[in-house]
Amino acid sequence: MPDTTTAAPPASNPHLAAYQARGLKGRILSGVQPTGNLHLGNYLGAIRNFARLQNDYECLYCVVDQHAITVWQEPAQLAAQTREIASAFLAAGVDGTKQIIFNQSMVPEHAQLAWIFNCVARMGWMSRMTQFKEKAGKDRENVSLGLFAYPALMAADILIYKATHVPVGEDQKQHLELTRDIAIKFNNDFAQPDFFPITEPLIFGAATRVMSLRDGTKKMSKSDPSDYSRINLTDDADAIAQKIRRAKTDPLPMPDTLEDAEKRPDADNLLGIYAALADQEKDAVVAQFAGKQFSEFKTALTELAVAKLGPIGAEMQRLMKDPGHVDGVLRNGAQRARAIAAPILDEVYRTVGFLKP
Ligand code: ATP
Ligand code: MG
Repeated sequence: MPDTTTAAPPASNPHLAAYQARGLKGRILSGVQPTGNLHLGNYLGAIRNFARLQNDYECLYCVVDQHAITVWQEPAQLAAQTREIASAFLAAGVDGTKQIIFNQSMVPEHAQLAWIFNCVARMGWMSRMTQFKEKAGKDRENVSLGLFAYPALMAADILIYKATHVPVGEDQKQHLELTRDIAIKFNNDFAQPDFFPITEPLIFGAATRVMSLRDGTKKMSKSDPSDYSRINLTDDADAIAQKIRRAKTDPLPMPDTLEDAEKRPDADNLLGIYAALADQEKDAVVAQFAGKQFSEFKTALTELAVAKLGPIGAEMQRLMKDPGHVDGVLRNGAQRARAIAAPILDEVYRTVGFLKP
């Protein structure tokens, strides 16, 4: 079983107090897109933390298939990838009977609230989103409208449950800030100061932004065309070893200090990965390997990665051979998610003034 024992950070959201006063736990929502190969960044930045938080919060973990189609997805693959992400949640230790695991399109209230948020969010806010700029690149005229509007749907994913906390990787921080801006504007516009919570991101661990193994200045990503840029959760021991062996480094020996490491992005990235997988502080890992050759460090990193990821990959493979079981978890999760979302959407519709004759 994966290790889920490390304590999560204490809930620091002042808005949580209001929930607790009403006898409620904090509520978590987080999502992963079924866009391709799940990688070490998704695991260390998000999915591993899902399991670590599940005893302290009520959790909803979502496979965000509607986000995935903001760029083209082959329909048959999308279905398989959706099951793969759900399998990863389970393999990483999320308990699908206690917590809610589902796919976004099964809960239409997300898209219904997203339309309202499209009318709350301002063009200026959306135009500042760096992920859109990066993903659209030079081809802005040809990307989908959905890719531009996506952060408003993400805000709806969170606020349709009035979620108080969202565990994510560092790259999603700006979208979380937008979610807060949307909540604040909605609450102000409709003169209901406590309607939506001001949701807090939970970004923690030694690897909140895992970088590409080919380029320490670029985020590790599912959509990177080079498979050597990432370690996939389903990679076997040989593939992991080969990718770490080929990972970019510089010609110097291992850094002596944290400051030295931080000036060398490729080395810094591998040290952060090691620290996160070993559940150690990065400065302790720097001290352990200071002045050694990269080859020695890479051998240790390979052993650690295979030991930590091997069981998760194997469990994912096992679950993916049992789509009936995974579909059952998703179906059951969607029912429970809708039971929370539907009354909140009703409340929103009443607040906005939609007639229910
Ligand atoms: P895509 O390239 O399709 O956007 P992705 O790799 O960014 O894929 P997402 O599904 O967008 O994956 O993100 C899922 C979760 O993984 C989010 O919480 C995100 O912040 C986190 N995450 C993604 N990449 C990294 C990374 N390199 N390091 C740490 N966390 C990451
Ligand atoms: Mg992403």
